[in-house]
Amino acid sequence: MNDPIVRQNDVLSTAELASEQSRAAATPMIEQYIEIKAANPDSMLFYRMGDFYELFFQDAVDAARALGITLTKRGQHLGLDIPMCGVPVHAADDYLQKLIAFGFRVAVCEQMEDPAAAKKRGSKSVVQRDVVRLVTPGTLTEEKLLSPSDANYLMAVSRIRGGGGGGGEPAMALAWIDISTGVFRLSETALSRLLADVQRIDPRELIVPDTLFHDPEFRPALDGLGRVAVPQPAVLFDSATAETRIARYFGVSTLDGFGAFSRAELAAAAAALAYVEKTQIAERPPLGRPERESSASTLFIDPATRANLELVRTLSGERAGTLLKAIDRTVTSGGARLLAERLMSPLTDPDAINARLDSVAVLVDRPGFADDLRNTLKQLPDMPRALSRLALGRGGPRDLGAILQGFTVAADVARRMADEDLSGELAEARTMVCDLPVDLSHRLAVMLSDELPVLRRDGGFIREGADGELDEMRALRDQSRRVIAGLQLQYAEETGVKSLKIKHNNVLGYFIEVSAGNAAALTEGEEAKGRFIHRQTMAGAMRFTTTVLSELETRIANAADRALAIELVAFDALCDAVVAKAEAIKQAARALAAIDVSAGLAALAEEQACCRPLVDRSKMFSIVGGRHPVVEQALRRQQAAAFVANSCDLSPQDGKGDGAIWLLTGPNMGGKSTFLRQNALIAVLAQMGAYVPAESAHIGIVDRLFSRVGASDDLARGRSTFMVEMVETAAILNQATDRSLVILDEIGRGTATFDGLSIAWAAVEHLHEANRCRGLFATHFHELTVLSEKLPRLSNATMRVKEWDGEVIFLHEVGPGAADRSYGIQVARLAGLPPSVVERARDVLARLEDADRKNPASQLIDDLPLFQVALRREEPRSSPAASRIEAMVEALDPDDMTPREALDALYVLKKEFAGR
Ligand code: ATP
Repeated sequence: MNDPIVRQNDVLSTAELASEQSRAAATPMIEQYIEIKAANPDSMLFYRMGDFYELFFQDAVDAARALGITLTKRGQHLGLDIPMCGVPVHAADDYLQKLIAFGFRVAVCEQMEDPAAAKKRGSKSVVQRDVVRLVTPGTLTEEKLLSPSDANYLMAVSRIRGGGGGGGEPAMALAWIDISTGVFRLSETALSRLLADVQRIDPRELIVPDTLFHDPEFRPALDGLGRVAVPQPAVLFDSATAETRIARYFGVSTLDGFGAFSRAELAAAAAALAYVEKTQIAERPPLGRPERESSASTLFIDPATRANLELVRTLSGERAGTLLKAIDRTVTSGGARLLAERLMSPLTDPDAINARLDSVAVLVDRPGFADDLRNTLKQLPDMPRALSRLALGRGGPRDLGAILQGFTVAADVARRMADEDLSGELAEARTMVCDLPVDLSHRLAVMLSDELPVLRRDGGFIREGADGELDEMRALRDQSRRVIAGLQLQYAEETGVKSLKIKHNNVLGYFIEVSAGNAAALTEGEEAKGRFIHRQTMAGAMRFTTTVLSELETRIANAADRALAIELVAFDALCDAVVAKAEAIKQAARALAAIDVSAGLAALAEEQACCRPLVDRSKMFSIVGGRHPVVEQALRRQQAAAFVANSCDLSPQDGKGDGAIWLLTGPNMGGKSTFLRQNALIAVLAQMGAYVPAESAHIGIVDRLFSRVGASDDLARGRSTFMVEMVETAAILNQATDRSLVILDEIGRGTATFDGLSIAWAAVEHLHEANRCRGLFATHFHELTVLSEKLPRLSNATMRVKEWDGEVIFLHEVGPGAADRSYGIQVARLAGLPPSVVERARDVLARLEDADRKNPASQLIDDLPLFQVALRREEPRSSPAASRIEAMVEALDPDDMTPREALDALYVLKKEFAGR
């Protein structure tokens, strides 16, 4: 026997609810609730009751708090109140959106039968209910729940022991699916690059086998992802059954036609599909066949670099201030998503990059054509997302309308492209856009009304003339309505009650209403009595019906019901027809997105004076007049001084051998970080297939990009600033190849000067000798500049400044040579350090510079008295004005002054003081 659950002012947990004792005490409804909740313990249960989704117990408490809605109670269970709150079904999407943003998952439980049917089984029987869908961040399809410009990936990671990899290392793979657009991709990965790969794809939800989730070796790789990662039963990831499960989903007997996949990839793909099935329950989103992405085909950007370069999100998680925001000129949501995807995963194959660049070039050369395309594309709705909703049974008439509108825009785009001489991606896109299902487009145009309701059940979306029977029913319905209007007139005349009205509500249907004072006209007199049947007495009014009115009402209701039924059948037929063409629709949408991206990049090139980069297999890195796209646009917006363009040449000498490293010194605030990042961003832009902000650029493919900029703590993971710096530096020194581009901004700043200098020294040597990569290394350790004498591919560069009248002027110009100082104290003064501190720092610096550099610390101790704030407090300086004021105060004798004289003296002093 279980202990009784005796608690006060508390909420029963899911486990307590599921106990035997709880079940035994439950009413039939609570019993059903417990059953369903126990099957979905990780999700909030939206339990459908009529027009509301109700939440109970802890779910109600959590939801009320998260949504700011009222928490009530509904009876008791086991002696405790049952907390309850509810959301109306018609507004459920808004609430779901909030709950998902808070990190909840929601199980949507619907009534599976008409309540009337349940009643027939007995007055106590409960309406059958079942969960029809789990709403999780990675499996959303509703317009309101999705951001139009972001993909919404669900990702699965798998690990197969002894499944490949050298030295018996476990093989790992990723599979990612966007059910809102049907994208399905796979790739192999490894523990060392897992986080980088996951962040490149940026899923909303990452499912991980529970065994792996709790594995101490694996755990740290997930830490950077927060609550995106969720454990799932390992059986979902079973590799032995994976192939069969995938084949079953796609309705094929073998995957041979899909390409060759590793066991780990199959396991991840099967898990992702199983999760889609688990969350979508009865429905199957139309997914594309899994496409394999080789990790070698994309530029490797490690997590720290991705964060530092602020490609799609700033360090503080915002959109404004990112490279994406600075280059996005797309006009469609599909285009915006594709641009982000390309920016996240630049390519490493020059041919593929040049195919993209060719498309941009065509549009840069023909600006009129590009403008036409962009103007046309502005009308393009989000076809893939509408398609996915229709396929999942969640679509409405407007989704059908979106497909039709998409076809219309696609046809227009195809027409505009027809006679153009196109190359690269554009030529390919034209073929796909021209390959549209014309019959379906025509059918939708014939069937759909111009104005479409959101919900199917509202009806009215099938065009007049499209269906004979529907027209007939609508005519009958409308005609009867006109007859009712005539009837009102007739009854008013016959009864002499001018204010008589025929009204309608959901309870009574049609009824005649007169004021209480006029009721006698309908209740008295033989003729009236026989005709007007009393229905309801209200305060001040009475309601009646007649046989004629009831008959008319039945006719209207029948006609309206029949009309809606016809429309619903037509909707389903259209929906099926659209879903049958899913592949062609998705292809066209992808092509239109690619055209939008090219046209957007062409517009950007024109607007921001960008050039086509020359991208090849060399190891060149020659940027002439390069600019930082984000800083430049920000300066322009602030109407500040124009951005100063700078060149950078890390190409091998004579174009052969390995690339060069620049050691960049210069003042604080001189523009070093900006210069470093701008070159990394130019490489990213070039390899994603965009024009770059420079006069010219020649870039030999970069295979990996590393950028360590600034210092940050990662205290949550137990790492101090210096530790983070060293972990990131270690990653670079261990992974950079002779094809990589390495950007290092200040290594060794977080520790003692000599330790830092030694580490920086050794790191530069390692990059030069072992990694042999192209690199930019900014530092305030001016001692490092002597390395250029020893290392042949290392050159010194510096940010130039002018000194004028004791002030430092930043020119933001990069030139050859080394800086002799950092002007740190001048910058500190500009930043508003107290003058006493600035002056003291100057003293210390002068002494340090004079001192024997071999042992500066001991020198300091010997030579300098301890810094004492009190000692440095500034003595008032004596000026002629001050002396005058002093003398005046001295001469005053308050005891001998009238109030008037005292006031006058005060005025004089004040005037003197102001003019001092
Ligand atoms: P620190 O050594 O203190 O980190 P830094 O040398 O890295 O400084 P940045 O942070 O790159 O300097 O630049 C400082 C500011 O100078 C930027 O915020 C920007 O507004 C401006 N700036 C940098 N480069 C340029 C440029 N090329 N043209 C115009 N303004 C620039």
